[in-house]
Order: sequence, then C-alpha cells, then structure tokens
Amino acid sequence: MISLESTCDSTGQSLTYQMNHSVILRQILTKRSQQKRRTSPANFKSRVFILTPTSLNYYEHRNGKVRSLRGFVEVARIKCVEIVTTDVASRCRNKYAFQVLHENYFLYIFAPDRESRQQWVLALKEVSKNNHCMIPKYHTNFWVEGRWRCCGQTEKMAAGCTVYDPSMSGGKPLPPTPEDNRDWSVALYDYKTEDSKELALRSGEEYLLLDTSEPNWWKVQDKNGHIGYAPSSYLTKQSEDNLLTYEWYNRNINRHHAEKLLIARGKEGAFMVRDSRQAGMYTVSIFTKSLGEGSIHAVKHYHIRETNDCPPKFYLAEKFVFATIPQLIIYHQHNCGGLVTRLRHPVCSWKEATPVTAGLSYGKFEIDPTSLTFIQEIGSGQFGVVKLASWQGTRKVAVKMIREDMMSEEDFVEEAKILMRMSHPKLVQLLGVYTQHTPIFLVFEYMEYGSLSEFLRRNKGTLTRCTALGMSQDVCEGMEYLEASNFIHRDLAARNCLVGESLVVKVSDFGMTRFVLDDQYTSSSGSKFPVKWSAPEVFQYGRYSSKSDVWAFGVLVWEIFSEGKTPFEHLSNADAVKEVSSGFRLFKPKLATEKVYQLMNNCWLEKPDARPSFNHLMKEITDLVESEM
Ligand code: ADP
Repeated sequence: MISLESTCDSTGQSLTYQMNHSVILRQILTKRSQQKRRTSPANFKSRVFILTPTSLNYYEHRNGKVRSLRGFVEVARIKCVEIVTTDVASRCRNKYAFQVLHENYFLYIFAPDRESRQQWVLALKEVSKNNHCMIPKYHTNFWVEGRWRCCGQTEKMAAGCTVYDPSMSGGKPLPPTPEDNRDWSVALYDYKTEDSKELALRSGEEYLLLDTSEPNWWKVQDKNGHIGYAPSSYLTKQSEDNLLTYEWYNRNINRHHAEKLLIARGKEGAFMVRDSRQAGMYTVSIFTKSLGEGSIHAVKHYHIRETNDCPPKFYLAEKFVFATIPQLIIYHQHNCGGLVTRLRHPVCSWKEATPVTAGLSYGKFEIDPTSLTFIQEIGSGQFGVVKLASWQGTRKVAVKMIREDMMSEEDFVEEAKILMRMSHPKLVQLLGVYTQHTPIFLVFEYMEYGSLSEFLRRNKGTLTRCTALGMSQDVCEGMEYLEASNFIHRDLAARNCLVGESLVVKVSDFGMTRFVLDDQYTSSSGSKFPVKWSAPEVFQYGRYSSKSDVWAFGVLVWEIFSEGKTPFEHLSNADAVKEVSSGFRLFKPKLATEKVYQLMNNCWLEKPDARPSFNHLMKEITDLVESEM
C-alpha cells in the first residue's frame, strides 16, 4: 500500500503533520489487543497510529515504514478517550496508557512518554467532541482479573465510576484546532533526474507540495528537506480517501479490460476497484473459480453503493457500511461479507507504464541536439521527415525535422510553449524544440505503431468492435481535454492520430495546420485541404470550432470502423462538398452497430450547435463500450 509508506520518527516522537488536510497525528505506539473473543489472551503490538478527522487507523510497520492497515476506529463511534491512571505495571516498553472506548470495545494504547500521551488524548477528544454517544462516566483504571481496578465492579460493561469530561484531559483544556493548509503528495512512480532544478522521486514516498501553480511541474520537498520540481503526473495528493494511492485502484479501465486483467492473473480472489460507468461511482471486480463446475471461472462485478448520509458511507453488502472506500476494501480483504470470495490479490494495471512528462525536463524547452542520437527514419509528412531518436541514451523520442519554407517558424516558436503545456495521456506530447539553427526540429513522445490510418489498413480484417470502440474512446478523451482547454485541433483524422504501447491511440498534430505555409493545404479549394473531414461551415466559411472538430471526429470514428478506408473514396473533393452540402452522409461501416452509426451521424449534424460536445460524446462512448461487453 503506497499511500502511507512514510517514515515515523525512529525516536518514537510524535510527528504532528500539521493538518496535512487529513492526517492530524501519527506515531508508533503500542496497542493492546481488544480481546474481542472471550478466550483470546491480551497481547501487545507495535503499530503506526494515524489519526484523521474521521478515523483512527493503525498499521503494521517495518522499521517505521507503514505497511498494511490492521484496524481502525471510526471517530463517530468514539464514546470516551482518557488517560489510564494505574498501578499495574505495563507489559510493553511504552508505559503511558490511554483508552479509547468505541461501541462496546476498550482499546488501550501505550505511548512512550507523558507528553505524547497527552497530545493523543487531546487530539482524539478534539475530533470526537461532537459525538452524541459520549458516556457520562468512565473507568480510570484497567479491567484486571474479572474486576475494574478503579471501582471493583465485577461486570465489564458496568457504568464507569468517574465523571467523564470530553473537553478536558488530565485537567487540561483542549487546544484550538490547528490550522495549516500545506498539502502532502505521494509519488506513484520513481522519477530519475540529474537536473539540478528537479527532484528525483521514489514511488510510495511522501513529498510536501510547495507550489502547484504550474499544472505539469510541481515544486516539492522530500522528507530530508531537498527541494525541486517534479512532473505532476507522477504525484498525487495524499489523503486517506484518494483512491489513486492504493494499488487495487485502476482508473480508466472498463469492464472488458478489467476482466482480461483479472483472468490473466488467474488467482482466486484477484480483485480491483475501478470507475463505474456512472460517473463518480466505483465497482469492485473479483475473479473466482468457485462459481462453476470444474475449471470454469468467472469475474463478478459489484457496485460500491452509497448511503443517503451526509457525507455518504459506502457498502457492498448492506450489513457492512464504512466511512471510506479503503476501509470497506480492508474489511472485505479479511471477510467475504456476502461477496463470492474475500478480496485476496490486488491487481494493478497502471504502475508498469510511467506517464509522459510535459517536456523532457523542468523548464527546458529548447533541446540540446547533442543529447539526441538518431536511430532511423520512420516516416515523412507535411513538414518533412520524422526520425526515431534516443534522448540521453535513455528515452525513445520522435523528431520531426522541419523542411525549410514549410513552416511559419516564428509563429510556431511563439506558440510552442503553449503546445508543450498541453499534456494529457491521450495526446501525443510535444517534449521540446530546437530552433537555434535551421533545420529546426520538434521532439515528440514516440509512438511505436505509427499512424492510426496505416495501423488500421495493416491490420484489416482483425479489428473487433470492442477494440474499435476503445480506440474511438481514446481519441474522444484526448479531444475532450482539448475542448476543455478551448483548443481547436483543425485537422483531426486517423492519419493525425498515433498508436502506442497496448494499442493506446493518441491525438497528434493539434493546431499545427496554422503553421503550414503550403496553400494547397490551407486553402479550402487546395488539393491537400482535408475537405472530407471538414464540417460545412469550415469548407464554406473557414469557421473552425470545437464543433467542427466534432464533425471530423465523426469521420474518424467512421475510418476506425471501416478499418482505414478513405471517406468518400470515389468522390473528388469538389463532389464530396456538393454531396455533403445537399445532406448526403457517409454510409454505415459493417463493423458499426446502429448505435455507433447514430453517434457518427450526430457529429455530422448541419448546425454546429446541434452537434454533441466531446464531453457528451465521451459519456455515450463509455456507455457503448460497457454495453458491448
Ligand atoms: P507531418 O506533421 O509533417 O505531416 P506526420 O505527423 O504526419 O508528419 O508524421 C509522418 C509519419 O511519421 C506518421 O505517419 C508516422 O508514421 C510517423 N510519426 C510521426 N510522429 C510520430 C511519433 N510521435 N511516433 C512515431 N511515429 C511518428
């Protein structure tokens, strides 16, 4: 579990992470077993205790590094927190006892010194002070050999003997709630760097966020005080309920993909949590062999349901309700609780592939040509040849060499910084430029399977509907980001999308037509103008918008479902314009269902405003993907 992989002070001093928006207090303390079963003997365990506004969690640890969650007490269920005054010798190294009474359980915790005990009791009282379930009286001493040592009562659940004051501890009033809004983050991947402005990251370590005003590079500080910039795509803000920090959570995975991964793992109880079709909701997918006869296996999907409370609580089975999703998962890791099997082996798909960074390093926009080793030519396009190269011998990149007089270079250089800041997992990332001398060149993320149009033609006859929908979904996601950034692509087509590892499709060449100097390409009557992808308002008036991108997206979906065919193959550009203007549209490709064809036709509505947005299309495609499964 990487979220809480952090160090506690080895001296055992409490580390008050001053309101890292969820962690109030954290320290290694000793916990006495709660003896939930009558016969179980008392034992003592060293645990990392972490107090958040909603729960007191305790974790197993190795040398101070937090490992798995072993239990928790919901703050809302706390009935009393107080120090224990006793003459009974402590059976562990920590001598300073305090008690947390919750429901009908007595949790005894031992702190290394008086101060830290006071700090814990005060903090716990502070978070639970508005609970309605507080008891009027409590026991000041332990329950030993069948009686309360303070009052001698022989019934364990007998009412306490001393008045309980939730607002005081050992005669001291509660401190005011601390206020500090510095956030912490957790690294999701390792990040190596030798750049002095940057900070290397280690997956699972925590970093204090110093400046997040730039979306792609955050200024962070590690726990040794080193400060530097790191790619924001490698970090996530830390909080107990940030699912990204858990190894069992997979974002952006549909049911089909989840099933493939779980079956590939093939272990009883292999599981993951993923986003549901319904935005903001989650599904637990579990692999089991126990459903059928013999070797028959199945993947079961359970929606995580929410109660009507405010804030809502979470459950899979109505009897077992939890304040957070991680708590729910931990419970079902130990108990079936109505599921087909308990959750045994978390499956994580995204850790292996590191995300691209917006630029090869922080603040570096101009690339030093000596850092590139050219490997081979991989294509040629509008601006010139494209070469595969290695950057600093570590990273493959695609370098677009710009032929002289093919690009309005000054305009491009001005815009390049903006292009570099456009960063999304479904956009081909511009990593840097070289503009000091001609020929200038642009360095992009390398996409190993090349252009989507060629990929489709090469693999004709093998494309499934599911893959075709997945590809359309990828492009739609990239376009949704451009739309939200008010950025118009102007030349969306399968030839301008690239295919990478795991067949991910990314949108490329966005906005680049503005820098093309060739009239044949830029004028709507030119022979190279992409008329067959153009909305009527574009070929008539040159009016570009996100809605003209939507039209082109419809054509691109058509290209995917017809496995790389050219739209209006037998028509000249002029005839295609005539046909489209008189209401004629592309035919339904065989692979497309009626619903997919309907989606294309919605993109080809005459009036731009009548066309759906990419945000809307994304929802429709996600529904289609799920219903195809
Ligand atoms: P231009 O923008 O000059 O028209 P293209 O983007 O069409 O050039 O690139 C030409 C060809 O080079 C593409 O069809 C593709 O095969 C290859 N190519 C371009 N960019 C990349 C990349 N980032 N990764 C891998 N191959 C690429």
